[in-house]
Amino acid sequence: MGERTRIARYFAPLAPDAGSFSLTDDAAVLAAPAGFSLVITTDSVIESVHVLAAATPQQFATKLVRRNLSDLAAMGAQPWRYTLNLHTPHGIADEWFAKFSAALVAEQSQFGMVLIGGDSTSAPHAAIHATMTCFGLLDGAPLRRNGAQVGDDIYVSGTIGDAALGLLMLQQKLPSDPALIARYHTPQPRLALGSSLHGIATSAMDISDGLLADTAQLCSASDVGAIIHRDAIPLSPAAQQAVAWQAILNGGDDYELLFTAPTSARDTIAELAASLALQLTRIGEITAGNEVVLVDENNVRLPMPSAGFTHD
Ligand SMILES: [Mg+2]
Repeated sequence: MGERTRIARYFAPLAPDAGSFSLTDDAAVLAAPAGFSLVITTDSVIESVHVLAAATPQQFATKLVRRNLSDLAAMGAQPWRYTLNLHTPHGIADEWFAKFSAALVAEQSQFGMVLIGGDSTSAPHAAIHATMTCFGLLDGAPLRRNGAQVGDDIYVSGTIGDAALGLLMLQQKLPSDPALIARYHTPQPRLALGSSLHGIATSAMDISDGLLADTAQLCSASDVGAIIHRDAIPLSPAAQQAVAWQAILNGGDDYELLFTAPTSARDTIAELAASLALQLTRIGEITAGNEVVLVDENNVRLPMPSAGFTHD
């Protein structure tokens, strides 16, 4: 099947916006709705790097969309439009594109965004490589990493470490647990939380490289330090069974939100957690200086586990 036929069959149906001209023109034309800022983020998924070599087209699409949407959530924005650049090996079956585009249809309807354009290329022996650029809408000021203040509480959403443990299970390094494997394949971008944190959080980011590495990033952007209470870190029941602190503290791919807020916001954040039916857990506090310190239940300093995975 030629590129034009493939686009017409599998991708044009994902692009209902009039400004995308059914993907038949040289570019799309886009006007943001009045009163909104555009928030733009881009992220890639490469076979054998961000998904396993054996990843299904559905797993590939899901990880691609949700990695991107997690960045929109971290800025407090909502999904709206996206472009897709897809690079595949010569000879890949049409069925792969059919399943990939069907998975994108499901993601689009779940998250309220549509395709507006992109590019597809192929080469011999290439790894599958997809880059998505998401255009989100923001009403008001963005959540930034640089606003954490000394004395602020540090929070995380959901539970931490599940995706890293799920990956270890897929690599047969831990006994398998379907709940944790699902957390690796199907992260949940915290979009409702991100848009609710305006006026509450002083800083926010998503956790993609591991809790400690990302806390260090946030602290660096805000020019502050942090104390993290290891025993306050929320773990799923399955992660409590597995306890593997190295993976939990340094593992990537959770796509939960890490944020800071003044102590005066504790009641508001508890109400927000209840209204979103989402666990929001206070795991530490912002300190003067530039160091991120991990402590046990007696406030005794723990050695930092060796550095985590960073995305190339
Ligand atoms: Mg991010």
